[in-house]
Amino acid sequence: MRLRNIPGSREVIGESKYVIHEMEEAKGKWSEIFQNDHPIYIEVGMGKGRFITQLALENPDKNFIGIEKYSSVLLRALEKREQLPELMNLYFLRMDAEDLEKIFAPGEVSGIYLNFSDPWPKDRHAKRRLPSKEFLARYDKILAREGKVEFKTDNIDLFRFALEQVQEAGWKLEAHTYDLHHEPEMVKGNIMTEYEERFSSQGNPICKMIISR
Ligand code: SAM
Repeated sequence: MRLRNIPGSREVIGESKYVIHEMEEAKGKWSEIFQNDHPIYIEVGMGKGRFITQLALENPDKNFIGIEKYSSVLLRALEKREQLPELMNLYFLRMDAEDLEKIFAPGEVSGIYLNFSDPWPKDRHAKRRLPSKEFLARYDKILAREGKVEFKTDNIDLFRFALEQVQEAGWKLEAHTYDLHHEPEMVKGNIMTEYEERFSSQGNPICKMIISR
């Protein structure tokens, strides 16, 4: 998702108390920022933030961090966040997920969500896909031993690519489906993302996998 550049979005983000600005200083100290020892979950490429905001509302005993590369998109998530000042367990980062290891210490993250990640259809861009083995190696560095990565998409080619990458990287496929919304066990508690709502309303089946090491 790349919205038109919104003038002033960088400034608004720069002043927001819900965005962590000194990211590299937070490494290994996220429990100090949240002021508790609750487990930390991140969404990489959160877009406009509906999924992670709802997850934070439903799980006050867990901490959440939404990560987004573009200011104009993060701004939309921030607008929602500002309506919920009572929410103590949700922060945002404006960054490229290539740098995750600079921000989180080994094992500091208990779970990672990837929702409707950009497909990067050209082969030469495969390394930019968030479920690629290059990104799995980054997740491996920050994810707790028992941690899981959950990935949803309606893009069947990207999903098949991810299945191959899981195998190549030596991760375990804990569960998967090619039609999440008709899979009673896996759909329980499902929170729809902005893209999920749009594509499922067009009749596209949603694929999901849960993986671990
Ligand atoms: N997760 C949302 C949803 O399901 O509605 C948004 C999906 S959108 C297709 C993908 C988002 O991931 C975009 O907003 C994009 O800017 C962000 N993104 C892609 N690659 C990223 C990266 N390397 N680091 C951070 N964000 C990234």
